[in-house]
Amino acid sequence: MVIKGGCLCGGVRYEITGALFDASNCHCSMCRRQHGAAYSTYARFDPDDFRWISGEELVKVYETPSGAGWCFCSECGSTLAASDKGKFTSITLGTVEGDPGIKPEFHIFAASKAVWHEIKDNLPQFEELPPDSWDPPGKA
Ligand SMILES: [Zn+2]
Ligand SMILES: [Zn+2]
Repeated sequence: MVIKGGCLCGGVRYEITGALFDASNCHCSMCRRQHGAAYSTYARFDPDDFRWISGEELVKVYETPSGAGWCFCSECGSTLAASDKGKFTSITLGTVEGDPGIKPEFHIFAASKAVWHEIKDNLPQFEELPPDSWDPPGKA
């Protein structure tokens, strides 16, 4: 399975040559500001499966001191990926073309959600991150 996607202006494109896992909606205040939305939706990938097809020079990373990064197109502002200490770890489902083969499985940082947003589905909610021992549904 090859997953492809890109940014709004079309300058940046990527491909992922493996399945996505751990799709979640993140309600943290940093994602909220960075996306300008109630929450962000990311799915993780094996970093070895990920590559930029075009426009890598347009990709900027905003990294916090903890090493969490949001990677976006410097031309159009689309947020494409998240990184951890410089390594790309997850993709925004909103930039994937077609069916990413996965749907959000849980909510993270639910304790930080926007006061004006109500979570109306029955997916598991974690105040912050899931405990290490927790296996998301659908993951072997
Ligand atoms: Zn762009
Ligand atoms: Zn977040």
